[in-house]
Amino acid sequence: MICVLRRRNWLAVENKRTLKVARPIGFCGGVRHAVNLFLKTADAHPGEPIFVLHELVHNRAVSSALEQRGAHYVDSLDGVPEGSLVFLGAHGVRPEIVELCHVKKFRLTNAVCPLVERLQMAVAEIPPEVPLLVFGDKKHPEVQGILGHAKSREVTVIGDLAEADALPPMEQAVLVSQTTRNAEEIQAVVELLSKRIKVLDSHNAHACDAVYARQKAVKDLAQECDLVLIIGSPHSSNARRLVEIAQHIGRTVLMEGAEELTAELVKDIRCLGVGAGTSTPDSVIDEVLQKAALFGFEENEK
Ligand code: SF4
Repeated sequence: MICVLRRRNWLAVENKRTLKVARPIGFCGGVRHAVNLFLKTADAHPGEPIFVLHELVHNRAVSSALEQRGAHYVDSLDGVPEGSLVFLGAHGVRPEIVELCHVKKFRLTNAVCPLVERLQMAVAEIPPEVPLLVFGDKKHPEVQGILGHAKSREVTVIGDLAEADALPPMEQAVLVSQTTRNAEEIQAVVELLSKRIKVLDSHNAHACDAVYARQKAVKDLAQECDLVLIIGSPHSSNARRLVEIAQHIGRTVLMEGAEELTAELVKDIRCLGVGAGTSTPDSVIDEVLQKAALFGFEENEK
């Protein structure tokens, strides 16, 4: 009898499914600040449309929830009626957009993340004769905002290490980075360019702390788990970076919500890791964790 019980216990341990969560997880400070400011604006102006340039943050669940609260997403402020409520998101914008808001007497809420704003100010203060190198995605709104603050100086956007490697020789330059890039990739670019450029100022070339902490946690998790789920939207730069980091180590899936977590996906998985981008709301993360629990995964606090 004792033997049978021991065997049952042993089988239970063998079949245990573990869930590990890459913490910190969920909204970063900049996204939380932007969403809270939006909700405050909506509360103060019930029923009035709030024109949001592009998207408040890069997450479809957040965007549609805010649409229910009055957000009207626009690609340009040109057609927005004078005096309207206008909201600018966490990524920051070019200075001429803020000027246009004043000209058109918009009732403006600018929710630019203070860290992005600090980077914009640093770029604006670079002496005009010093070339600027921006490591990032040229189309990303944060990079567009940085380029706007660079005024008319010589600027080169570097998308990856190969583009950094192809730069012509330079005497001096300032290198900055989009805050959501892969921290290790940024470091590789800094090291490469430090050898090529005599005087290189790279003190603003780094991921922000919130992004760095999530990247590090996901990297650790990927080494321990059979499968890593990254919760976030495909157009979220920082969620995509988390996928790249985990994918480099093992099996990884990007998903927007719990409906994409199926029994089939996790059928051979004993250790499931979960991470999320800085714009993924807690409600979506909780739904994924609850679904994982239904499949027998028990959280193991890291
Ligand atoms: Fe700010 Fe970093 Fe969040 Fe971007 S990711 S909004 S820089 S805290």
